[in-house]
Amino acid sequence: MTDITIALSKGRIFEDTAPLLKAAGIVALDDPESSRKLILATNKASVRLIIVRASDVPTYVQYGAADLGIAGKDVLLEHGSAGLYQPLDLNIARCKMMVAVPEGFDYDSAVRQGARLRIATKYVQTAREHFSEKGVHVDLIKLYGSMELAPLVGLADAIVDLVSSGNTLKANHLVAVEEIMPISARLIINQAALKLKRDIIQPVLEAFSQAIPR
Ligand code: ATP
Ligand code: MG
Repeated sequence: MTDITIALSKGRIFEDTAPLLKAAGIVALDDPESSRKLILATNKASVRLIIVRASDVPTYVQYGAADLGIAGKDVLLEHGSAGLYQPLDLNIARCKMMVAVPEGFDYDSAVRQGARLRIATKYVQTAREHFSEKGVHVDLIKLYGSMELAPLVGLADAIVDLVSSGNTLKANHLVAVEEIMPISARLIINQAALKLKRDIIQPVLEAFSQAIPR
């Protein structure tokens, strides 16, 4: 009998993942939101969950410390997909990667005039690619959180961030001016594990695939 480890992050991803796990017959024995345990047993002796930072999920799976993981496309684009098989868009944790600027900032004419824009973001790779395709010169400023603050205090002209309701932007007098891409969470599988543990991974993959919300 083989065993598998699934890497998940708390918060949004876990909330939306619990129903998928349940469809695969997997239920955590402790509530990951309240438990301080980092390794959680499940009702299936052959399946355990590990709880890691969202941006660390691809790393655990790439090196085989986890066999499967669930990670946002935003995280996967920054991490790269070496060693990772990405069979399923789970259509959960959906939002948009967007460019946002302070109310009153004329983004279109700044772009048209070829101004050099200062962009604050956690998503440096994605932002670099986006602006390079548009032929816009940018200085990228790497942040680890609360990007909305940067234009308000003169650190940047614009931000690249994930937006769902838009409430955080609104509360900080920012407006989204461009959609870069839609984002959702993906199932990722370690390529070697998929071959070696197909007996146990394949049924999980099929159950997830049947349970994807539309
Ligand atoms: P931390 O909050 O610990 O700094 P994080 O910001 O990466 O880490 P979350 O905010 O839980 O963690 O985001 C995890 C994933 O959820 C993201 O990688 C993204 O795919 C998705 N996500 C982020 N923001 C939203 C949103 N507003 N709506 C829907 N999904 C989102
Ligand atoms: Mg967060």
